[in-house]
Amino acid sequence: MPYIPQKRRDTEHTPETPGDLHYDVSQLVDKYLYHGSEVPPNYQRFNDVMGVLACAQAEIYRRLVAPYEDEKLLENGEVYSVSQADELGQCLDPTTCRCGQ
Ligand SMILES: [Zn+2]
Repeated sequence: MPYIPQKRRDTEHTPETPGDLHYDVSQLVDKYLYHGSEVPPNYQRFNDVMGVLACAQAEIYRRLVAPYEDEKLLENGEVYSVSQADELGQCLDPTTCRCGQ
């Protein structure tokens, strides 16, 4: 939640907690909605924010989380009954995999 104590509300510092990060993101959204246009926020601008946040989340997952998860999969082993496929879609472990290849 973004409602961190007043003394932590300084967007100049690098966020150290999820609350700090949420606060910083909220400040940016507030700036866009209430200071980035002459007119009060309307549905389009609210929708812009929701779309950007959804795309930012998807991009963080695609670029940062998925590669990390892949690394951990190789390090610690599979949890599903199907194994990973290579770039061409070929099963990487047809002896134990249940994908049917
Ligand atoms: Zn397979």
